[in-house]
Amino acid sequence: MTDTIVGIATAQGAGGVAIVRISGGEAAGLLSQVFRSGRYRPPYESHRMMYGHIMDGDTQVDECMAVYMAAPRTYTREDVCEIHTHGGSTAAALTMKLLIRLGARPAEAGEFTRRAFMNGRIDLSQAEAVMGVISAQSRAALLAEQQQLSGGQSRFIKQAQEQLTTLLAGLEAHIDYPDEIDEEEAVSGLNEGLDALIRSLAGAIDERCARIVREGLRVALCGRPNAGKSTLFNALLGEEKAIVTAIPGTTRDVLDGSFTLDGCLVLLSDTAGLRESEDVVEQIGVERARKAMQEADVALLVVDASQPLTDEDKALLTSPFSCPCATLLNKQDAAVVGPKEAGALGAPSPILCLSAKSGEGLDAVKDYLRSHLRTPQQLLLTHERHMSVARQALERLEAARCSLAIGAPADLAAVDLHEALYLLGRITGESVDEQLLDDIFSRFCVGK
Ligand code: GDP
Repeated sequence: MTDTIVGIATAQGAGGVAIVRISGGEAAGLLSQVFRSGRYRPPYESHRMMYGHIMDGDTQVDECMAVYMAAPRTYTREDVCEIHTHGGSTAAALTMKLLIRLGARPAEAGEFTRRAFMNGRIDLSQAEAVMGVISAQSRAALLAEQQQLSGGQSRFIKQAQEQLTTLLAGLEAHIDYPDEIDEEEAVSGLNEGLDALIRSLAGAIDERCARIVREGLRVALCGRPNAGKSTLFNALLGEEKAIVTAIPGTTRDVLDGSFTLDGCLVLLSDTAGLRESEDVVEQIGVERARKAMQEADVALLVVDASQPLTDEDKALLTSPFSCPCATLLNKQDAAVVGPKEAGALGAPSPILCLSAKSGEGLDAVKDYLRSHLRTPQQLLLTHERHMSVARQALERLEAARCSLAIGAPADLAAVDLHEALYLLGRITGESVDEQLLDDIFSRFCVGK
């Protein structure tokens, strides 16, 4: 039997309530030693919230609510007790100290979830989704993690494993009983099955889409100094974060901000104006601006349309961009440059007219950004680790496909298929070692 662990499940700092969680065979016994209530006495009824006090001998530690949850209908599938003390740093910490004195062991990071995994309540990818839910930065990211937590991804991987197992069985029958199975038929059936599996797995690996859902769409605002980038930055953010002046070159570094659009996070970088500069600080800023643009998913090229286009503008409009880019003709309230002129120069399209100052045209800019957002429904795999393992599995399937195509001995393909099966098991947790588990769970917070 495993020992009984205790941890504070809520975040540190001031708050209404803090939760001390106990899991293991001694959970109810430990609770009965510290919990006093006029009404409730052990043996406690399972899943009932009880009012009382935490007592250290005759000394009251805190007023609390406590619940005992009998295995297996619990988070860890072990007996679990939770004590809801007042928030802040003291009451829960004293309660935890008391429980440790009585024999509980302080939980390690992620240990409650690790037990849920070890006891078969959730698989590894679901355990990782628990952490994803906790760290989600937007509704889209939350939804993606919730899909994973509820087993959407596990079902997909399980299905792939089943298909692969069937293919392997066919291949091995062919190896073991070559005389009884028609070679051509066996290989063609195998090829078809492998192709389908390769297609479905490849379709599930979309690192860019997953990153946009998980971390947000990276958008770089760029253009000449004084074009109105900072004004647009503030307008999109809905706050005055960037300094706006009529003096060119005021934004000398990259300024980051974020806002949500349709539940997705948009990470906005207001870059220093792109121009050749003598000023050392500004030069560094311009360099960073170029880097922000290289790392961006989308760039918005802001042009001051209230003045005739300069050579610098023209050079910018025709310079190559490594990501999708829209041209924003800003200062429409005083425009002398229209979309036709910019279009004739070959400015990146779409070309949108905007007044960052009044907000006119801002919706069209948001619509353009929207077209680059991704929804969680488009995702089967969300986490980097899963995609990297799935990619390795895919390589093995392709290798097997290749060796069958060139008529290599079937054993070779079988080795690749076995390896692919093992790799898929590393996503759901069937083929894991202590090292991988330590690595994954050490990134969790204590108390989860
Ligand atoms: P940045 O250097 O590209 O960040 O440009 P700023 O946002 O600091 O703006 C430079 C100047 O242009 C400021 O005086 C702004 O008030 C002005 N400006 C920005 N957007 C507009 C606009 O839509 N119309 C007009 N008339 N002026 C604007």
